Amino acid sequence: MYENSQGRTRYGDPRVIRKGWEGIASRKIDGILHVLNRFWDVLFFFSGDSYYQYDSERDQIYTHDAHGNPFPNLISYGFPGIPDNIDTVYYNRSAGYTYFFKDNLVYQYEIERQRVSPGFPKEISVLYPGVPNNLDAAYYSYYHKTTFFIKGLEYWGISGNNGPIVGPFTVNQRWRDICNSFLERLGYFQPVDWESTLDRSRQTIFEPEDVAPDIFSDFDPSVMVEEVEGMGRDGEPTIGVDDEEFKEAIRKFQQANNLTITGLLDDATRNKMNEPRCGNPDHTLAKNGTKTVPPDASNMTSNSSDDAHAKSNATVVVQKRAAEDTSQGNSRKRQSVLKTWMERQEERRKKRGIFVNNYVTWRLLGEGYSSQLDADLQLAVIQQAFRMWSEVIPPLFRPDHVSHIEEVDVNLAFGRVRHLGCPNEFQEQEYAHAFDEAAEVHINDQIQPYTVNRPDGISLLKVAVHEIGHILGLGHHEWANSVMQPNYAPQPYNFEIGAEDRRAVQELGYASGLREFPCRHSAGVQDLSGYPDMLDRWILPHRRLTHHRGKCEERFDTVFDWVRPNRDENGYMTGVIYNTFFFADGRYWMYENSKGRTRYGDPLLIRGGWQGIASRHIDGILHVWSRTWDVLFFFAGDSYWEYDSEREQIYTHDANGNPFPNLISYGFPGIPDNIDTVYYNRSAGYTYFFKDHLVYQYEVERQRVSPGFPKEIAEVFPGVPNNLDAAYYSYTHQTTFFLKGFDYWSISISTGAIDGPFTVNELWQDICKVWMWELDGS
Ligand SMILES: [Zn+2]
Ligand SMILES: [Zn+2]
Repeated sequence: MYENSQGRTRYGDPRVIRKGWEGIASRKIDGILHVLNRFWDVLFFFSGDSYYQYDSERDQIYTHDAHGNPFPNLISYGFPGIPDNIDTVYYNRSAGYTYFFKDNLVYQYEIERQRVSPGFPKEISVLYPGVPNNLDAAYYSYYHKTTFFIKGLEYWGISGNNGPIVGPFTVNQRWRDICNSFLERLGYFQPVDWESTLDRSRQTIFEPEDVAPDIFSDFDPSVMVEEVEGMGRDGEPTIGVDDEEFKEAIRKFQQANNLTITGLLDDATRNKMNEPRCGNPDHTLAKNGTKTVPPDASNMTSNSSDDAHAKSNATVVVQKRAAEDTSQGNSRKRQSVLKTWMERQEERRKKRGIFVNNYVTWRLLGEGYSSQLDADLQLAVIQQAFRMWSEVIPPLFRPDHVSHIEEVDVNLAFGRVRHLGCPNEFQEQEYAHAFDEAAEVHINDQIQPYTVNRPDGISLLKVAVHEIGHILGLGHHEWANSVMQPNYAPQPYNFEIGAEDRRAVQELGYASGLREFPCRHSAGVQDLSGYPDMLDRWILPHRRLTHHRGKCEERFDTVFDWVRPNRDENGYMTGVIYNTFFFADGRYWMYENSKGRTRYGDPLLIRGGWQGIASRHIDGILHVWSRTWDVLFFFAGDSYWEYDSEREQIYTHDANGNPFPNLISYGFPGIPDNIDTVYYNRSAGYTYFFKDHLVYQYEVERQRVSPGFPKEIAEVFPGVPNNLDAAYYSYTHQTTFFLKGFDYWSISISTGAIDGPFTVNELWQDICKVWMWELDGS
């Protein structure tokens, strides 16, 4: 029983027909006809080829009709001209007619005369243009004062008195309301001014019992005849408000989520809306100069929808809502909460210069730890999330749990429904939200369970990476695999920030806005005593932060392709594989050429990945790889190591029993100490050492410098500069590269001439020196 004024069904419904309507034996009711006028009050149930008459006074069926025939009777007997298996039936009280529907036909019936009106049946589309065939139900609602036609999950209505048919609309008003506030909140009606619109009303998700589809797909018309005359609202029939706008918002949502675009609140759409998602809107007001435009009178009355006006209107709304609050109970407290929040946002907004610094600090607020995970683990996950971003953009992030809170750039906290003075209560399916101008991230601790390094649950790392993406200035995207998708997608191990996300955050240009150098923190404000001074001495002067739209641009010590046999499980060689490695400052990256990025989690410490190499600064790596030789040497200062590729560790001693590292002057006679770089030219069979302006051609088999060498680099490789950082032969590009600073040169495959300079980070992207506070003094 649906209680219209309450907008819900009766508690405990639905119930079984044969108990609630005694004597109605059928499970499937085709239609119910209640003829109620000055002379008649009769109620019939139709099912298949039969009908029952019901005694409303005694709440049970009549056992016999007026002629003594027992119920159920045949329709063909009691309603001559009406077919069996009708779709539905209803009584139009003002017209005084009954209408039976079957398939594409409608039968106007005169119950007093027991006949179908002359000229009937007619096509439904003729009598009710816009109403579909094969209806589930038709009924006159005394509450809404209009006639509704229901089919599937949709309904149509007659607008006004005998006005046109309007629809389809969504059957379930409660769903409609939920959906409406959901879409409004996310900006599908109009872009949301997320950072300063307050007091968003609470909504709920579509609950499971609502979603049970058979309630509506097999709509039971018995719920529709129980209205009591006189309960109706005054005035015009009400059908739906702003329905075209509503449907358009649904269409936009469906499109954004790759759903079938129906404009209707279908199962797929409802399910998508119930998925865990970020609470930030999908459509926000553009961030441009309009933020500072004060609202004036013309703006307030304007209906214009351009950004400036929309922003002003939003401000007016905020003020208006705050004013309305004063008329309510706890309004004073609420207002002060809002005021504090606005002030706090404004304060933090003023400090918006923060991200032009090289160091961005963050804190997990003391009162805001999750109850679900170990505190250290939460910190580690958030740190890892920041680190993943600094793998692709210049800022370095590090935690700061010491400074005054206002000095910390990014605040993060877990909370529950009402949290941290935030005006945005968490919705049930909302895992987090972020305010990029205030640089605050709030994570919903009621989402269960947050997990780390597991495929189930909600990956806290992915949530943190997404929200930090907002802090950096990214909005929502629907790119496949984008970490900025608003809905939470279960994540395999080791997810990565996708290529589009990387490009998008680099487009924001974090490097290009650098105003002063060194940054605020290293200028003495921030105590860096916990950090190796190497950070300032070595990394920062070597970073060029003003070009290429925020991509990392780094210098490297050396680069090489490591070639080694690929063996099957029985140890038989099935081919060769290679990987490209970049080395700098005691760390190394494996670069995946085919994917245009470094391996997940890189860079790693050299001493961890290349066991036994004790030096932080590698001058060069030589991999001689021919039919007869497979030797790998690391050069640093006056020494070298030989590396055992099979066992992945250095050899402890050379063939003559001398322990590594050996002196270069001993193992490579004629080669100077402190080389710039070295590489092996496989097709020529020679090794080339570089130092300053000289190049040494070396014959490893004979342990000698080729006669006539060293030569000027300009003579052997015209166009290649002196004092190289690195030279290497790339199996991916099938040519030799020379790197110096942020530039590289290459040997043209077609002409053999040297091409360049080109920019290193255009060819090898996103190799960033991301080590942060975890710098370990190595
Ligand atoms: Zn988001
Ligand atoms: Zn919040």
